[in-house]
Amino acid sequence: MEYPGNLFVVAAPSGAGKSSLVKALLELDARLAVSVSHTSRAPRGQEQHGREYWFVSPDEFRAMAARGDFFEWAEVHGNLYGTSRAGIEDRLQHGEDVVLEIDYQGALQIKQLFPYAVLIFILPPSWDELRLRLNRRGDTEPEVIAMRMNNARIEVAQAQHFDFVVVNAVFDTAVFDLKTIVHAQRLKYAAQRRNRSAVFQALDLP
Ligand code: 5GP
Repeated sequence: MEYPGNLFVVAAPSGAGKSSLVKALLELDARLAVSVSHTSRAPRGQEQHGREYWFVSPDEFRAMAARGDFFEWAEVHGNLYGTSRAGIEDRLQHGEDVVLEIDYQGALQIKQLFPYAVLIFILPPSWDELRLRLNRRGDTEPEVIAMRMNNARIEVAQAQHFDFVVVNAVFDTAVFDLKTIVHAQRLKYAAQRRNRSAVFQALDLP
């Protein structure tokens, strides 16, 4: 499937700063929209239905998956998460750029469906720094941190399958790196031919 909009997929181990980075990127770029995923987990803190996630029961989630409502879905840390077709297909067809903030399993499924999707992996600068960041969150039990560190090793090993890697050592530098990737994608020949059609026509470019 090839659409005029760009599809960016951002994955990272928990604690690498993915959500904050994507939030900062979206604030800087009005042409980017994030897709709201479905999940079977319960809302945390101030999370709202339809804003952070569409919260559904495990049964509803499985029924949606069986109907083929998801482009991809995966079990992450014991809960189900999925990207629904509704919404993102429309946006891409209309030439809008969409960001998916999902785990590596979902990212690799998306790459199968949309080979032109741009896969970005966010790395922490070191294991020690990742552990520090997970501890700093404060609300997490030691066993949960140990589980996330174990999962992180599995997740980070998948970075080699991604198109781009951003190391989140200095937050602003990582945001700049993300912006640069998005910008470069929009300068590709096919994108420029769509967006600068007058110039291309004037120059007799195919
Ligand atoms: P959390 O529960 O902390 O919000 O998210 C846990 C993990 O699930 C994160 O890595 C997050 O990116 C991932 N995730 C969120 N939405 C989706 C989705 O739609 N599909 C997949 N595969 N992973 C998701």
